[in-house]
Amino acid sequence: MDLYCLKCRKYDYRNRHKCDILSLVPVTRQCRTLADKLFELGVEPLSVAHFTQPVVGSEYKYIISIHIELRHSYPVDILGDLPIKWRWFTETISEDHTPLSIPVLTYYETYCYDGVKSVDDRVKQVIDGFVDYLDTFRDPQATKSILMLMYD
Ligand SMILES: [Zn+2]
Repeated sequence: MDLYCLKCRKYDYRNRHKCDILSLVPVTRQCRTLADKLFELGVEPLSVAHFTQPVVGSEYKYIISIHIELRHSYPVDILGDLPIKWRWFTETISEDHTPLSIPVLTYYETYCYDGVKSVDDRVKQVIDGFVDYLDTFRDPQATKSILMLMYD
């Protein structure tokens, strides 16, 4: 996964980039618009990634998941009533079994390839749909003001 600077809106290398290290986060290419939109709203991601994998034993089915780790435990209603299949949870077990508490926003579906829309096309559709949702659900300036009061 490539490192993406949320402030400069570009991909760069850690040892070369001039910004605060916290603004440089792993973001998959397809998730870039989503990372930008969340940051614009004041919801700071630690990483934004999507994953796809074929369902074992099936030629047509794929698991699609989108995993967004966040810097703060935001109020669960800050992004409104999330669209279907999106949900909040707190990740509590790390790979090396140290306790942690990372708030995450996730999307999960089993996609059935219809012969027209590839799994990558479907990923793009899901991400674009969520960005559209974030664009329209509430006044972005109001959301950002609330979060700045809470976390700055
Ligand atoms: Zn930067």
